[in-house]
Amino acid sequence: MSATTNDTSDPAARLQELIQKREEILRGGEIHSQLHQIKELVQKEEACVLEIERQRVDAIMKEYEEQHPLITEECPLCLEDIPMASNRSFVRFSCCGKGCCRDCNLKASIHKVKKCPMCRADIPTERKAIKQIKALAKKGVAFAQAEEGWKFLYGGNGYPLDVKQAVKFLELASEQKNPKAMRFLGHTLYEGKLVTRDVQRGLYLTHEAADLGNVESRLYLGKLYVLGNGHMRDIPKAIHNYTIAYDVNTTIKHKVGQHII
Ligand SMILES: [Zn+2]
Ligand SMILES: [Zn+2]
Repeated sequence: MSATTNDTSDPAARLQELIQKREEILRGGEIHSQLHQIKELVQKEEACVLEIERQRVDAIMKEYEEQHPLITEECPLCLEDIPMASNRSFVRFSCCGKGCCRDCNLKASIHKVKKCPMCRADIPTERKAIKQIKALAKKGVAFAQAEEGWKFLYGGNGYPLDVKQAVKFLELASEQKNPKAMRFLGHTLYEGKLVTRDVQRGLYLTHEAADLGNVESRLYLGKLYVLGNGHMRDIPKAIHNYTIAYDVNTTIKHKVGQHII
């Protein structure tokens, strides 16, 4: 609507007429009514977008869960079935090799429990824990081999950086299908910074760990499909992997670090 004024040479009269017109429009509520309607429409559109996204995620997760049944382990303390979705889902004790869920372990540490809740051994010092892990690894316990592997890989916490030892232990644990070991070994082989690069085996191990439910490997696949290094850039596959990782991540009891693309 265009404001019309009488063609008068009196600017004060013209101004008065314009002010009256503006007040009429505001009193008529036209602008407010339009804004209100637009706001309602935008809210409805946002709800639609969220619903479409939920349907997309549900379809991907339905297919994924049919192909990869969720691997769980019962926590002996709270008796909940804990999804083995992350390296950090389950805490293993170096004394006996048994473990419990992250929440139960947190409660135990808050209450400063001094004995292992499973075997009642004293909670070891860091040095003793390392010895115990080494002994378990020597016995062929997969989680202990994986621990040895990644600690040698990065060094620190009482371990020297020793890539040869790292690969040896990660290989042993990977043979036992330990997802954490496969994740670290796959990553190390694919990146090729510490060992001779082996893209094919690196990807194979990463896929296998991801298919065993390891969220960190699933996130890494998402990242690889985004970065791609030329040969495997595939944004739909990246979105697919990130979708699974983030959906699984919301079902487990803690957040895995998010990747910033
Ligand atoms: Zn528990
Ligand atoms: Zn114990």
